[in-house]
Amino acid sequence: MKIAIIGAGIAGLTVAYHLKDFADIVIFDKSRGAGGRICTRYAKPYVFDHGAQFFIARTNKFKNFLEPMIEAGVIQSWNAKFVEIKKDKIISRRQWDNDNPHYVGSPTMSSIGKYLSQDLNVQLNSEISINRSKDHWQIVDKEGSDQGVFDWVISTAPVSQSAILLPVDFKFHETLLSRKMMGCFSLMIGFDDSLNLAWEAALVSEADISWISVNSSKPGRNGSFTLLVHSTNSWAEENINQEKDAVIEHLMNETSKIIGKKVYDANHIDLHRWKYANIKKQDVESPFIDENNQLAACGDWCIKGRIESAFLSGFDLANEMRSLIN
Ligand SMILES: Cc1cc2nc3c(=O)[nH]c(=O)nc-3n(C[C@H](O)[C@H](O)[C@H](O)COP(=O)(O)OP(=O)(O)OC[C@H]3O[C@@H](n4cnc5c(N)ncnc54)[C@H](O)[C@@H]3O)c2cc1C
Repeated sequence: MKIAIIGAGIAGLTVAYHLKDFADIVIFDKSRGAGGRICTRYAKPYVFDHGAQFFIARTNKFKNFLEPMIEAGVIQSWNAKFVEIKKDKIISRRQWDNDNPHYVGSPTMSSIGKYLSQDLNVQLNSEISINRSKDHWQIVDKEGSDQGVFDWVISTAPVSQSAILLPVDFKFHETLLSRKMMGCFSLMIGFDDSLNLAWEAALVSEADISWISVNSSKPGRNGSFTLLVHSTNSWAEENINQEKDAVIEHLMNETSKIIGKKVYDANHIDLHRWKYANIKKQDVESPFIDENNQLAACGDWCIKGRIESAFLSGFDLANEMRSLIN
């Protein structure tokens, strides 16, 4: 049994990890590294986790899955000084601790994808599409080269991309079309010297920014002082096609106002645009398996825009698939 998985994010890696002893699996991802939105941007001497910031494990399934990575030090608890900021005023403070861990990858968020993919067949830099070939699926890359024939294809791409990748007769195609993900801008700022803020992670409300973290305060970073800023989803949606410089200028101004310090003399400033960053909580969460077509789809968009949701969608799908392919 040959299975192609589209996407080496946490959902795709989870499916592969749990099915690898039952099928011949190849994961294809268009990116340069595994991990999907759990990712890291390097700009020497700076390092930025420009996607997911941290995560919490609520379910035992997820806790068990994380255990070996915690033991290996690939995942560590980020015991940040956390604040909530309303406009430009701090309204609450809390110290994150080991009793209620806020996990991050260490030394970077991308360490998680690297760790999980080490024993899997992951084809990177492979943006692929699928074609029906008799009773199989043929995988073709962007250059049109044949990447093999598979019995099953599982898409873990963000929902709008999955809707394009999978044929219209996929049993759940209408559902895919009805789900909408939201955008986000990540502003990455690197400094020569520390800004000496009184906090390391800030949840922001009543502004066009929703999150600011001292990225360099996460465990294992040891690098120069960095801030990572996320716009709100709603501001990103309204400005998704804006010029990069205009977005940077607005978010830099907002950041200065919120933290009460000028950030314009930073040494490094860059922006990443996420067209599909996350999704609100969904009512129907079941894995989407179309047995007749031998196609399936999962990802955070099945449940909620969180790492644990992406994991659970992949875990549940793998469990159901096991009984189908055995
Ligand atoms: C800015 C931002 C901040 C976030 N903050 C947090 C947070 O603090 N905590 C938290 O829990 N979650 C957070 N999230 C959400 C979290 O990152 C996601 O829920 C999770 O990583 C999704 O995993 P996934 O495997 O479902 O999808 P992805 O990680 O998106 O993986 C899908 C993969 O499919 C690949 N792909 C798509 N199309 C193709 C194709 N045609 N061919 C080959 N490959 C393809 C992509 O390259 C990608 O790697 C954040 C996300 C963003 C963007």
